[in-house]
Amino acid sequence: MALGGMFRNSAAIYLHLVGPLQRKKAGASLSRCLHQTLTMSKRLQARRLDGIDHNPWVEFTKLASEYDTVNLGQGFPDFPPPDFAMEAFQHAVSGDFMLNQYTKAFGYPPLTKILASFFGKLLGQEIDPLKNVLVTVGAYGALFTAFQALVDEGDEVIIIEPFFDCYEPMTLMAGGRPVFVSLKPTPTKNGELDSSSNWQLDPMELASKFTPRTKALILNTPNNPLGKVFSKAELELVASLCQQQDVICITDEVYQWLVFDGQQHISIAALSLALAASLPGMWERTLTIGSAGKTFSATGWKVGWVLGPESLMKHLYTVHQNSVYHCPTQAQAAVAQSLEREQLHFGQPSSYFVQLPQAMQRTRDYMIRSVQSVGLRPVIPQGSYFLITDISDFKSKMPDLPGAVDEPYDRRFVKWMIKNKGLVAIPVSIFYSVPHQKHFDHYIRFCFVKDESTLQAMDKKLQEWKDELRA
Ligand code: PMP
Ligand code: GLN
Repeated sequence: MALGGMFRNSAAIYLHLVGPLQRKKAGASLSRCLHQTLTMSKRLQARRLDGIDHNPWVEFTKLASEYDTVNLGQGFPDFPPPDFAMEAFQHAVSGDFMLNQYTKAFGYPPLTKILASFFGKLLGQEIDPLKNVLVTVGAYGALFTAFQALVDEGDEVIIIEPFFDCYEPMTLMAGGRPVFVSLKPTPTKNGELDSSSNWQLDPMELASKFTPRTKALILNTPNNPLGKVFSKAELELVASLCQQQDVICITDEVYQWLVFDGQQHISIAALSLALAASLPGMWERTLTIGSAGKTFSATGWKVGWVLGPESLMKHLYTVHQNSVYHCPTQAQAAVAQSLEREQLHFGQPSSYFVQLPQAMQRTRDYMIRSVQSVGLRPVIPQGSYFLITDISDFKSKMPDLPGAVDEPYDRRFVKWMIKNKGLVAIPVSIFYSVPHQKHFDHYIRFCFVKDESTLQAMDKKLQEWKDELRA
């Protein structure tokens, strides 16, 4: 304020000394200059934000809203959560008035308790609700807290591509250095459909990414956007490298219930590898992240969690108690009640964790048939609720879509498709580091956690497109 006032006084003196015309001109340029001086005298943006100001979800959600579209872009269900979860939320809002107040910093006690008992069985661990559990604002909150707590200036974090885009900026904001390693598609035989299981890590390449500076590796299974469900052998490879190199594993398992074709989701924290009795096992070095948004088809609730050993969790508690402190109590109460219900129905046909993947497998298969009709070649996902399709045929037929010269083809294609075909998808290159984007600029991602009517509307648009292609 004092600085601004001083500049303003000198400007007034100067204007008083010159003639009317000069005064007008000088006034305009001085006010420009003054404005610049006031806004630019200090660097406003913290350095940790350099290069991360752009966000694809903000960009494509905005674009989708500007056109009349069928939205298969951002991943959220357009159908309601199950009745029991809706009732649990209503109960939380209209029941005990104390649920309007603060609760414990690291989680509403009934929620940390049920998370501990539910996941304790799945991970084969004795989980203490007060030492091994943290409730966060969605899985985003869990990831952010983990990166802030564990990644230090100059630490390297191994990220497997394609990756949920926020892993890179979160590493950077913590001062870390992302190190990328890509899943590579193995070529399919003529006419055979590609599958996410064909996308694999090269063990030698993965091993070469570990250095003495590697602090953590981030894993995402089932993977967004590919839908890959990592096999036991693949997880054992990652786990053995983490153990040999003394690296922390952050595993994002938000789609753990969304697995198809009889596949099984395996949590890396549950693997018991005995490389050497003296080395901490996978539970001791892993943070397992989940999301009620994905689990109960309620992405707006923004309740997530982290489970892990006390040695790691205590640092996440430090970040959380000094930033968010605690998450909304009512949403946590609703998640607690919903998980208690699921625990009673576990593995039975009445379980939502059984019903949801069955329903999503049907929508996946419908979408696969539908996209093929216009020459988009699907990569069959084993899990998650995303389907990526190969657009290479379009790339060769219409290479000159509008857009900046250096803009990856898939981004230009999606923008063209939104504007001209009324269909929203997400370009897959956003899930790659910049240097690798040019190798993966011929896939787009559709989300199939959608109501039947949305998929029919998509199919209608695709059939019109097909008719155009034939004409
Ligand atoms: N991880 C992955 C892989 C995701 O796709 C998402 C998007 N929902 C998140 C984390 C964030 O989840 P939440 O909405 O619970 O913050
Ligand atoms: N996880 C969701 C997706 O991949 C949404 C992410 C977001 O909107 N930021 O589509």
